[in-house]
Amino acid sequence: MSSEALPTLQHSNTPLLPFSDYHTHPQGHRVQRYTQTLLQPWADSAHRMGLKDIAFTDHDRYHAGIDFDEIDRLRDRNPDLRIRAGIELDNDPIHSPAGRKWIEKHWDKLDFVLGSVHFLDRIDQMFDSVPDGAAQFDGRNIDAIYADYFRRIRELVATGLVDCLAHLDLIKIHGHRPAAHIAGLINETLEFILRRNLAIELSTAGWRKPVNELYPGDSIIELAMERGIPFTTASDAHSHVQLGENFARLARKMADLGIRGVCIFQKHKRAELPLQL
Ligand SMILES: [Zn+2]
Ligand SMILES: [Zn+2]
Repeated sequence: MSSEALPTLQHSNTPLLPFSDYHTHPQGHRVQRYTQTLLQPWADSAHRMGLKDIAFTDHDRYHAGIDFDEIDRLRDRNPDLRIRAGIELDNDPIHSPAGRKWIEKHWDKLDFVLGSVHFLDRIDQMFDSVPDGAAQFDGRNIDAIYADYFRRIRELVATGLVDCLAHLDLIKIHGHRPAAHIAGLINETLEFILRRNLAIELSTAGWRKPVNELYPGDSIIELAMERGIPFTTASDAHSHVQLGENFARLARKMADLGIRGVCIFQKHKRAELPLQL
């Protein structure tokens, strides 16, 4: 996949808008077997939004619902849309060991694996639950929580099962900010990501959370750009109506920061495409 080979991936309505959404949850938050009834509304939404390339990335704990034949059928029915088979690998201490095994088994059928840290010390609650997860920060040293979170990110990267990191600074979700300067911690993590040749996502989901800020924040994006770490664009949609949410705002942010390329994946192979011709 070279950029010359795919000139048609430009957004069909406004050239500046991102053309891809690489973080979506057709199953939402329970196991729902993939069927055309479940998936076609996502393709319809993509058409409506002018998206050309989408990845399904349900949580690994719902891997039982994923059906590659149904994804193939959806591709046949929507030939103008690129549809990637993906998954979001979590650090869920209970479910993710099985999720990892499933990913290893189906690696060749998957186009794309997102890596996410949703769990800190509590094994029974994602820290990013809103609002309940905020209690995990009560009375704690926020700098230590940040250090612990980014250590878990590096651990996930080290599994070698991830193509791209989701919402890299999710730890800010409830608005907790470190007191210390954390550039060292971020740089160490970005170096780790660079050495593994992974991408990171620009996720508009942060704008609908209490922190009300893009994931990741501008300073992390700038540090990633200095290293040449590439980006995907993502909404983390849990309903087809959220697909491509806030992409006009994301387009403005990307223009402000000078991001001109977005990467896409096919069978874990990455290609970077320009936002504009
Ligand atoms: Zn996530
Ligand atoms: Zn997600």
